[in-house]
Amino acid sequence: MSAAAGSSSTVLRLESKVALVTGGAAGIGEAIVRLFREHGAKVCIADIQDEAGQKLRDSLGGNQDVLFVHCDVMVEEDVSRAVDATAEKFGTLDIIVNNAGITGEKITDIRNIDFTEVRKVIGINLLGVFHGMKHAARVMIPNKKGSIISLASVASVIGGAGPHAYTASKHAVVGLTKSVAGELGKHGIRVNCVSPYAVPTGLSMPHLPQGERKDDALKDFLAFVGGEANLKGVDLLPKDVALAVLYLASDEARYISALNLMVDGGFTSVNLSLR
Ligand code: NAD
Repeated sequence: MSAAAGSSSTVLRLESKVALVTGGAAGIGEAIVRLFREHGAKVCIADIQDEAGQKLRDSLGGNQDVLFVHCDVMVEEDVSRAVDATAEKFGTLDIIVNNAGITGEKITDIRNIDFTEVRKVIGINLLGVFHGMKHAARVMIPNKKGSIISLASVASVIGGAGPHAYTASKHAVVGLTKSVAGELGKHGIRVNCVSPYAVPTGLSMPHLPQGERKDDALKDFLAFVGGEANLKGVDLLPKDVALAVLYLASDEARYISALNLMVDGGFTSVNLSLR
């Protein structure tokens, strides 16, 4: 097999697949878009950041195999339009990654919670995933195949790893994943989610102390999340998350559905205080 987009990969795990990645213009979504391209997929980047999305599309060779569509996942019509534009341009839709997400403000005090903020977090992180699942299923069911992957978080299984609304939204993504996996399995569609530990991106960095240089900022970030103490200095990068998503997107994961795949170095499963 030949490698796409300048990759050194010898096996193209998504050859002839078509994927849509929400929030694909930056952070983890961008890493997913890049890795999917390396593995031969045609990709639609659906994001609210037009300039960044178009720039990424152009850096990946322009319009032929990569599409950018302006899409606010909170708005059902936007998601529907992005799915239709993808299917129209590339002929089908095999994979959707419901990646767009926000943390919201770091309000930990329930007495002072701001419901405007809560609605926004739930609107993007949960309703955005509903919208993606609904409109992807519309194309995938007649095809009798598909892979739906949503980004959850370690905050999908424990409290205290993010603001209340964020934690609630991510727990709900896991429940929704299991529920929809139960419905769509008979149509040959797998539905999973991926739950990363803290990854330095635009989403996480603004909430954290910033070092002056890039490596200082990363060190601050790891100290803030207990990275060095908890994970023995392992720094989780967007590509690590993208690799887990790639696996679930590929046919190699053909028997895996309703899974919440933790990409957390054991953080949510091991009592590190005893070590
Ligand atoms: P990021 O802020 O770096 O990137 C998010 C992307 O989503 C941006 O391109 C942004 O423009 C886009 N986006 C935001 N709101 C949108 C909307 N309404 N419609 C469409 N696009 C929108 O974030 P990230 O860190 O890459 O996070 C990606 C996903 O991973 C999120 O669901 C997040 O909750 C999850 N996650 C992140 C971390 C982390 O530490 N970074 C950890 C666990 C889970």
